[in-house]
Amino acid sequence: MFDVEKIRADFPILKREIYGKPLVYFDNGATSQRPARVIAKMDDYYLNWNANVHRGVHYLSNVCTDGNEEARRTVRDFIGAASEKEIIFTRGTTESINLVAYSFGERFIGKGDEILVTEMEHHADIVPWQMLCERKGAVLKVLPFTDEGVLNLEALDRLLTNRVKLVGVVHASNVLGTVNPVREIIEKAHAAGAKVLVDAAQSIAHTEIDVQALDCDFLAFSGHKIYGPTGVGVLYGKEALLEEIPPWQGGGEMIREVRFEKTTYNDLPFKFEAGTPDFIGIIGLGEALKYVGGIGLKAIGAYEGELLKYATGRLLEIPDFRIFGTAPEKSALISFQVGTIHPLDLGTLLDRMGIAIRTGQLCAEPIMQHYGVHGMARASFAMYNTREEIDIFCEAIRKTGALFEGGKA
Ligand code: PLP
Repeated sequence: MFDVEKIRADFPILKREIYGKPLVYFDNGATSQRPARVIAKMDDYYLNWNANVHRGVHYLSNVCTDGNEEARRTVRDFIGAASEKEIIFTRGTTESINLVAYSFGERFIGKGDEILVTEMEHHADIVPWQMLCERKGAVLKVLPFTDEGVLNLEALDRLLTNRVKLVGVVHASNVLGTVNPVREIIEKAHAAGAKVLVDAAQSIAHTEIDVQALDCDFLAFSGHKIYGPTGVGVLYGKEALLEEIPPWQGGGEMIREVRFEKTTYNDLPFKFEAGTPDFIGIIGLGEALKYVGGIGLKAIGAYEGELLKYATGRLLEIPDFRIFGTAPEKSALISFQVGTIHPLDLGTLLDRMGIAIRTGQLCAEPIMQHYGVHGMARASFAMYNTREEIDIFCEAIRKTGALFEGGKA
């Protein structure tokens, strides 16, 4: 039995009221909330153990170093990596992708080479590749999606020429919710000689991921979207590939020997971790993954799937309610418009009723262009959301619609 009330009790912020109304937090796609035990773990390290990692011989430094490296092993096990050398700590998904765009790009991308991304990527999986293409004279190609929000895999066969060196694909779209068939895409890309980076920012908290079963070359995610702290994320890369590509940032920690004539670099994963890491954030991320692992992503995914089904059914009863993204494989978020109500007006009015949703271009302007809209509203669910909250949300949308002359303002 999935005990949502027990889970809710772990998140103090969910007891808050906003404008005197109980908080309904449906902006989990932007960032999730953190359970008390993650905050307590970080507090404990700040209050009792703080010292810089990988440097000191003293007690506190060793405690923090051990905590940092234990968190790395927790991440390794959470995503099924073969070795902790394949787990690089970054500031988040965005930084992880930029790292690959720089380092992989430096080593493997030349003039006329192609990078293939999908039309449903977040800006974080578009712009770093455009910058790389500008630096190297490479070309960015785009795999389109259908109006339903499903990638056109026939076009993939056509686009995967032997000039494509890397494919960037989002596992679950932050706008459409579509869960992409990444295993199939990876197989096809490998057959064409391309490497694949999977953007798992939106899938990591909702579905089990096994990087070895997927056979992805790189995978990126952020801690703050899986009940962990902000400012910490992960880049997974296959060890042999990480060995081949150069470091990105230079500084302390990433070196073996520094001479003015020539510097040599540290072993994996430290070669990619220049400077003092956010080790207490990393320890917090480890704690968040243990917490999620204790509940189980299978149970979480099943519960959220039920929420999505319930919310979709109820929302479609509302006149002029339009959902963007109706793929059969969908994660628990709904991007929408109601009649001609501006998403910003909708979001502002819902906020007054204690409901937090995201509005605007959702960091995915090409998706807005696909549908010819300026913006959308998005409700994104987490394991602590409930049917009762969905009922409150539907009622609030009906009220807002009524304010705008029968929903057709
Ligand atoms: N990719 C996807 C699909 C996202 O949804 C997000 C954040 O919303 C990102 C990348 C960027 O994540 P971050 O801002 O944590 O680096």
